[in-house]
Amino acid sequence: MSRPHSPSNTLASARAPELQIGTSDQPGPDLRRAGLILFLLAMAALPLLPVPEFWITQAVYIGLYALVALGLVLITGIVGLTSFGQAAFVGVGAYTTAWLTVSHGLSPWLTLPLALSATAVIAAMLGWLTLRMSGHYLPLATMAWALSLYYLLGNLDTFGKYDGIVDVPALTLPGGLTLDSGRSFYALVWPLLIVASLAVRRLLDSRAGRALRSVKGGTTLAEAMGVDTFRAKVHAFVLAALLAALSGWLFAHFQRTVNPSPFALNKGIEYLFMAVLGGAGHVWGAVAGAALVKLLEDQLRELLPSLLGSSGNFEIIGFGIILILTLQYMRDGVWEFVDRKLPRLPRRVDWRDAAPLPRRAQPPRGQTVLAAKGLRKVFGGLVAVKDVELHVDAGEIVGLIGPNGAGKSTTFNLLTGVLPASAGEVSFVGAPVEGLNSRQIALRGMARTFQHVKMMPTMSVLENVALGAHARGHAGMWRAMMRIDRAEERQLMKTAQDQLERIGMGGLMHVPAGSLALGQQRLMEIARALAADPVLLLLDEPAAGLRHREKAQLADVLRQLRDEGLSILLVEHDMDMVMNLCDRIVVMEFGTRLMDGTPAQVQADPAVRAAYLGTVHEEPA
Ligand code: ADP
Ligand code: MG
Repeated sequence: MSRPHSPSNTLASARAPELQIGTSDQPGPDLRRAGLILFLLAMAALPLLPVPEFWITQAVYIGLYALVALGLVLITGIVGLTSFGQAAFVGVGAYTTAWLTVSHGLSPWLTLPLALSATAVIAAMLGWLTLRMSGHYLPLATMAWALSLYYLLGNLDTFGKYDGIVDVPALTLPGGLTLDSGRSFYALVWPLLIVASLAVRRLLDSRAGRALRSVKGGTTLAEAMGVDTFRAKVHAFVLAALLAALSGWLFAHFQRTVNPSPFALNKGIEYLFMAVLGGAGHVWGAVAGAALVKLLEDQLRELLPSLLGSSGNFEIIGFGIILILTLQYMRDGVWEFVDRKLPRLPRRVDWRDAAPLPRRAQPPRGQTVLAAKGLRKVFGGLVAVKDVELHVDAGEIVGLIGPNGAGKSTTFNLLTGVLPASAGEVSFVGAPVEGLNSRQIALRGMARTFQHVKMMPTMSVLENVALGAHARGHAGMWRAMMRIDRAEERQLMKTAQDQLERIGMGGLMHVPAGSLALGQQRLMEIARALAADPVLLLLDEPAAGLRHREKAQLADVLRQLRDEGLSILLVEHDMDMVMNLCDRIVVMEFGTRLMDGTPAQVQADPAVRAAYLGTVHEEPA
């Protein structure tokens, strides 16, 4: 399959037959699925083969590590949060069960929910305290958390100080079977890991997963799509911590003893290393990374001291070198390298007859949808928007024009809540939006595109557009992992496809958004905004990068939308398009509103002509 990227970027070419990839219903020869099945068969056969016990033990450790790395893939690779504290969550899982079973005689099956609950509470608290703040607070907080837990465990008599707790009981299954051998434990750990990996994969391919993935694109985009980014981050962080705690619970009953060192900060760094080396963007990267690190560790531990002629923990140095080489030559990890070689098949279209999503009631034609008064924005010494007044009525296309730097995009950001206004009032569908953030405003029915396209380049065009319909769905992370979200998911996909077809991009829906030409990316943003079923659509230079014919087609679509009752506020530099399309035009210059009138009035106005021709004229006071 050649790269699905058209050299000419016309709407017509977007519909060309050779680009109709992926709309077929046949899954085709799925090498990926075959590979997964082969891998599962091999892993299932391993304990039945006469392999040495040592191999089985290694495989159990790889499984335990991979569970932790899986959580890191989710938070680091997918959501973009860095945690050095995963080993400490493993510790919470391990110590909870060790302490409760040894000192209090509780059954391990009872300690599992207790360990998971304790972890969820700690992770939610850590996340809640730090995730509102930007970037580096979470990594620092997780480091502090890892350090304090290590010293706490090492100094508490109850937990046996640095010697830890010994004689942790083995797990016993209800039938009386005791999991005290490597092989029996393997039969518990690996199925759990496979189930967890598949659950995370399912999560990524869902409404909640798209929301999580969108957070990495920055909060402006995600919030404008109606995603509560803070909540999404906390949820992902808690889920990752739960995977770590599960690993810890298993670890305690496998080793039958716990002490603080496997849960220290350096182990937390090692887990992060596994995720990065394996490929933090992929679920299977966690398994690959855990296997590579575990096997490398053993090799280096034997090889390096004999090479260097002295004993010591030299493998740490080896890891450091490998990490630097990985970041230099395989940024996205080993699995990304493998993944790129595997055929990429379009997703199966199974939503053709899905029921349409319920639609919002549109306000009656002519009613004021948006009204701004005295809108002002000051950036330091620059007044970018100066007491602007503006209104849009239902079923009206209003143009917002003015030379570069006039304050049009800033006005958009004020209206949509992306930026707080320095002064002024905005009311939308009859209620003030004062104090609302961009997500809350989006939920009320304001959808927008961005002058500088914001999208998730590795997600398909379809997924990007489906993100726009986020607020019209409800299924969360658990429903996605249990795969009981499919009916709603089909509705979201159908909405996304319908909107893409409406703007003539149906043939490109399975292509990664990053491979689109700029003009097509802008059109995709319009489809995404429409997927939200908005009352008001704000378009910031939608025709930039489009050819003449594409512009005419875009204008047709916008006219049709207006006829359906949608209200549109349009920033555009193409004067032909603006004059032919808009019912009313607001002209801005130097942050102020120069005039508000019909296209004919605007064209006849000497001040507007002066502003556009660059003639010197008095700036209105
Ligand atoms: P337009 O979209 O009409 O071209 P903008 O709204 O992007 O204009 O910009 C208006 C003015 O505000 C410009 O002078 C620009 O440099 C300034 N400006 C915009 N955003 C910021 C910001 N975040 N910080 C400082 N100045 C800004
Ligand atoms: Mg602009």
